Amino acid sequence: MPLAVRWGAVRERLGAAERQYGRAAGSVRLLAASKSQPVSAIRELATLGQRAFGESYLQEACPKQDACADLPLEWHFIGPVQGNKAAEVARRFDWVHTLASEVQAERLARARPQHMPPLNVCLQVNIDGETSKAGIAPATVTVLAQAVQALPQLRLRGLMSIPARADGLAAQRRPLRALRELWQGLRGEGFELDTLSMGMSDDLEAAVAEGATITRIGSALFGPRPARAVLRT
Ligand SMILES: *Cc1c(COP(=O)(O)O)cnc(C)c1O
Repeated sequence: MPLAVRWGAVRERLGAAERQYGRAAGSVRLLAASKSQPVSAIRELATLGQRAFGESYLQEACPKQDACADLPLEWHFIGPVQGNKAAEVARRFDWVHTLASEVQAERLARARPQHMPPLNVCLQVNIDGETSKAGIAPATVTVLAQAVQALPQLRLRGLMSIPARADGLAAQRRPLRALRELWQGLRGEGFELDTLSMGMSDDLEAAVAEGATITRIGSALFGPRPARAVLRT
């Protein structure tokens, strides 16, 4: 299926979910998770009007960003923030969705160039307690949020999670609801959060139902990823 058709179909799904769950039209942003996709695909989506792209691996992202430097794109880092990569991530991206420790926050803040606006960050939460999963425990979000808030080079925008795959809307909604409640709790504590980064190709509707403000979509947009990328995910 041509990329433009897939992009239109994903936008249609997003719009339908917004209508179905009483969300304002256009209130949920589409982040194209472009890991393992070529520059040509990014450029084609850009001509259609897609602006936000998510990359998971720094080595892969750098040449792609350089090849798209003439385009007004917004780059979101959605992979693990490894220690030796944090500085480059801070210089090259507009957003980091996967912040999961105070050490990472300090590294990103230190490397964020003064002439750039603060780096937008979301805290990645291990919302369903899967031991193998990246992200902080729900009980520790307030502490990390306070630490991030104290770093002027970072701008705390919200929370992100990658729940375990689940079948059916009700099962998908459960962890996403827990993330939203955690987010609302932080807002109640005075943190000015405006972003809930949740929803992927399989649970986009559940995420919109539970209040996502940005969904990270890969395979529904680009087709199945090559085997290598699946292994690395
Ligand atoms: C690859 C990826 C996605 C997109 O996943 P799909 O299921 O292909 O839509 C979303 N979030 C993160 C963090 C990813 O690495």
